[in-house]
Amino acid sequence: MNHVIIAGAGHAGIQLADSLRTEGYSDRITLVDAETGLPYQRPPLSKDFLAADGTPELVPLKARKFFADKDIELVEANPIVSVDRHERAVTLANGDRLPYSALVFATGARTRRLVAPGADLGGVHHLRSADDATRLRSELAAARTVVVVGAGFIGLEFAAAAVDRGLDVTVVELGPRAMGRAVSAQISEYFQRLHAARGVRFVFDQTVSAFEGDAERVRAVVGGDGRRYPADLVVVGIGVEPNETAATDAGLRTDNGIVVNEYLRTDDDAIWAIGDCARFPCRHAGAPIRRESIQNAVDQARTLAATLTGRPTEYHHSPWFWSYQGKTKLQIAGVARGDGPITVVGDPGEGKFSVLRFDETRLVCVESVNHPAAHMAARSILSTASPISQEELAIVAFDLKLAARLSRTA
Ligand code: FAD
Repeated sequence: MNHVIIAGAGHAGIQLADSLRTEGYSDRITLVDAETGLPYQRPPLSKDFLAADGTPELVPLKARKFFADKDIELVEANPIVSVDRHERAVTLANGDRLPYSALVFATGARTRRLVAPGADLGGVHHLRSADDATRLRSELAAARTVVVVGAGFIGLEFAAAAVDRGLDVTVVELGPRAMGRAVSAQISEYFQRLHAARGVRFVFDQTVSAFEGDAERVRAVVGGDGRRYPADLVVVGIGVEPNETAATDAGLRTDNGIVVNEYLRTDDDAIWAIGDCARFPCRHAGAPIRRESIQNAVDQARTLAATLTGRPTEYHHSPWFWSYQGKTKLQIAGVARGDGPITVVGDPGEGKFSVLRFDETRLVCVESVNHPAAHMAARSILSTASPISQEELAIVAFDLKLAARLSRTA
């Protein structure tokens, strides 16, 4: 009998199991995870879960009944520790050995750690799992002065929640601007001002050399230039690293992610990788990349389900992403490559606008603030094969909804 083993019951793994059943796969499916309990959604952990008026409850990806109804075995708190590619079998942490006909790594990523003296003091947090978020939330109640290391999405979502609770918040960032690797200068500046207006202090171009503390608890973050930033709670949000150890140990190619082809297959005919842990050739980025988003996890899972059920399908979905920072929603469609021409549509002063980013010839990315209709239109335009240029968009006065309608009927 065929047996698909999925390592990781996160967004990608759960979607794959679900889509395999939808596609008509009727043999055995086993989902193996390192964590305990029902698999849950990660995005709320830095948003609602921490907000003063939010709900500190985990949002399950599926109810317990789903696994019984769909005949999917869920193995909890028992990660895959090794893969015998010759015998096509995995070994779990408890020593159990399971044979597979197809093995899928959907192992996600873990937070990158800052290597500095005092990094393991009490009060220094990372945010990836339900346990991380629960610990952080319980300490937020007594905290007064917070330092966030890293002005990326998670750092800023947390900063918004902390300042909402009346805490004193300083964000220390290595680069020159907020979310610098992911968004245009216009969006960086907009969000920096938004957070600053609510009381968040920003320190850019600053490294962290140490965490100081007393009685095992952090009291300050020390910058590379010796400046000290007082803190009784610190959140380090400096990115993630893929969970690829079992793949590397099995001799599969890894390079900041498990290397796969357009079909999401590794060099081994029976082994695949999807979601945050996979490094795949991305047509939109023009290079092999790893992408960390729900869209990517879910769409790669659906694509792979088609392949595993006899319809080989390449993965070329146009990417999109969202982030909530306080009450402000940022949505990004597409991928910008470098600093091409930009057109701003709408009014940043009114808190509702989009930044349209072009390469030499076509629209490649749209970043929308509180502008969901523009985001949806951008996704529609960017998913079509025919590129649309800045000149063509100018003809319709940069009305993305109209342009989307026209490109559908073209
Ligand atoms: P994961 O969801 O990380 O799941 C991987 C699973 O594999 C984990 O449960 C892990 O325990 C398990 N595992 C690891 N190693 C093994 C092993 N050896 N054997 C078995 N199991 C293993 N994305 C957005 O698009 N929008 C957002 O607003 C957003 N907000 C986020 C907020 C937070 C706080 C976090 C942490 C992430 C956020 N993301 C957001 C990113 C998004 O959650 C990830 O891209 C998504 O979870 C990736 O899904 P995945 O299934 O690849 O990995």
